[in-house]
Amino acid sequence: THFGFETVAEGEKHKKVAEVFSSVARRYDVMNDLMSFGLHRLWKAFTIQISGVGCGDRVLDVAGGTADLSLAFAKRVGRDGQVWLTDINHAMLSRGRDRVLDRGFALPVAQCDAEKLPFPDNWFDCVTVAFGLRNMTHKDVALAEMRRVLRPGGRLLVLEFSKVWAPLAPAYDFYSFKILPWMGDKVAHDADSYRYLAESIRMHPSQDELKELMERVGLKRVDYFNLTGGVVALHRGYKL
Ligand code: SAM
Repeated sequence: THFGFETVAEGEKHKKVAEVFSSVARRYDVMNDLMSFGLHRLWKAFTIQISGVGCGDRVLDVAGGTADLSLAFAKRVGRDGQVWLTDINHAMLSRGRDRVLDRGFALPVAQCDAEKLPFPDNWFDCVTVAFGLRNMTHKDVALAEMRRVLRPGGRLLVLEFSKVWAPLAPAYDFYSFKILPWMGDKVAHDADSYRYLAESIRMHPSQDELKELMERVGLKRVDYFNLTGGVVALHRGYKL
């Protein structure tokens, strides 16, 4: 049946995502720098700047992986603040936790699915999800959960690959479908995971589609910033 097919497909996506991130966790940070020519650092720095997070704030990093954003927030919130590093994948989260400890911070860490967040309503000042949403099976459910745990006036920031500016598309396609799997093979000995990465980027909603989805789950004043010609977009929405 149609329903049955969907169930199988969803289960498979879940399994595939778990396989991919368990497989890439060890080389994740090196590959991130290589594949994006270091640009992911600028995209994340922009996210931190736009977040408005300051001393004493409570921040939730969903799909936080190896903790780039969590670490930057930890420096901002100070002793009175709180930053939660969360991810569904144990291998990614372990690396994240180790990196946090290596840099002299102690943050609360939770292994959880973004679609069922183990936090009370109205708790966080800011929720972020960087390069995680496109891996989620039910993006609407995950976004609604992120909205639920925000306090009124709090904001959600979604940093994600998006639809690139049309004139750049041929070069970008060549890069992501040919060079990326090749690099994945040479550096991480894992062409398949990087092929999945390119495919998942293509399947992800465009800038306006994601904006609409965020509005549909009740986020307000949703806007977005295109970064590097739309290779990546940062969406922002408020719980009002
Ligand atoms: N946020 C980190 C960064 O920007 O470097 C890691 C991004 S990594 C590309 C995507 C992360 O999303 C992986 O660590 C993966 O385990 C996580 N993820 C995928 N599906 C998830 C879900 N349903 N709930 C929570 N995390 C999920």
